[in-house]
Amino acid sequence: MNNKPIYVTQPSLPLLAEFNTYLEKIWSSKILTNGGEMHQALERELCDYLGVEYVSLFNNGTIALLTAIQALGIKGDVITTPYSFVATAHSLLWNGIKPIFVDIDPISMNMDPNKIEEAITPATTAIMPVHCYGNACDIVAIGDIARKHSLKVIYDAAHAFAVKDHDGRSLLNHGDLSVLSFHATKVFNTFEGGAIVCRTKEMKARIDQLKNFGFVDEVTVAAPGINGKMSEVNAAFGLLQLKTIDSVLSKRKNVACYYRAELSDVKGIKLTEQASFERSNNSYFPLLIMSDFPVSRDELYQRFKEVNIFSRRYFYPLISDFPMYNHLESSSKQNLPVAGEIAKQIICLPIHTELDLEDLERIVTVIRTC
Ligand SMILES: *Cc1c(COP(=O)(O)O)cnc(C)c1O
Repeated sequence: MNNKPIYVTQPSLPLLAEFNTYLEKIWSSKILTNGGEMHQALERELCDYLGVEYVSLFNNGTIALLTAIQALGIKGDVITTPYSFVATAHSLLWNGIKPIFVDIDPISMNMDPNKIEEAITPATTAIMPVHCYGNACDIVAIGDIARKHSLKVIYDAAHAFAVKDHDGRSLLNHGDLSVLSFHATKVFNTFEGGAIVCRTKEMKARIDQLKNFGFVDEVTVAAPGINGKMSEVNAAFGLLQLKTIDSVLSKRKNVACYYRAELSDVKGIKLTEQASFERSNNSYFPLLIMSDFPVSRDELYQRFKEVNIFSRRYFYPLISDFPMYNHLESSSKQNLPVAGEIAKQIICLPIHTELDLEDLERIVTVIRTC
């Protein structure tokens, strides 16, 4: 039996020769960064492709999150989810903000809007939800709560590239700011990279100053900014990736459809809801391993590993269990029962464009023969 390694994700790379034509342009311009031609072109093309008004590119998603918090002047306490990649909460700590974790909804695995109001303290200034696995948060309920309590909303949209809302418009138009990651493991990548999506020219100017040390012009520094700029090489790679993104998304959808067809009748396995699946970018394929499945989640993870298949337990452990967070009151198990349960059941299957039918059969066979 074929034993080649199957990874949870792999990037879709363009032909190297095609990338070379972009590199030749950069070599002849001798402009390597600081908002050059490639950077400007990628911001424009992303606005068009995503259906948003303003995009500010960054060197990675984490620096974009740090900067989004600064751009809105957020301080004090921020309500967030424990069920995410650790960078979500780290971006708060780096800004001297106390994260307040609220539990997630068992179906969407996103922040449960019914738990937000009771978590608001006098120091709360914002909500930072995550569109986990690219499935939309309850943007309407979260928007209503934010308005009622005058809170800002920053969506960590690292998983939500090209995802639409219920009206078929970009999900990234909701909240005050949305933050994307273009890390190598994401659906759309620039090796490393990220972006903030915003809705006014003034906010875009503020973000662009903050990512460039706070410079307004050659002699004026208006804020203690950071270096968050994306280089021309990364931006060029993004321009090339955008040309194939539709076929990448459709190949991912095919993989997800295959898994759904093959796994929906397996006892003890729970798939995510069909409705959110339809609007998803299929950036991940999460499964819940329930108590009536023949083996535990961790046993299944091991069995995959034994045959060179690398699944991932996203998101386990919860952010609230890491040492820099576990002393917080909101990190208690009693406060986060749903997230605690799902973190024990979750496993993400490999999903990317390089998987062929034989790979998929190998993966499904492991599950079916447990
Ligand atoms: C990937 C990711 C980030 C961080 O993005 P980087 O570009 O790797 O810095 C933040 N939040 C979530 C939910 C992520 O998955």
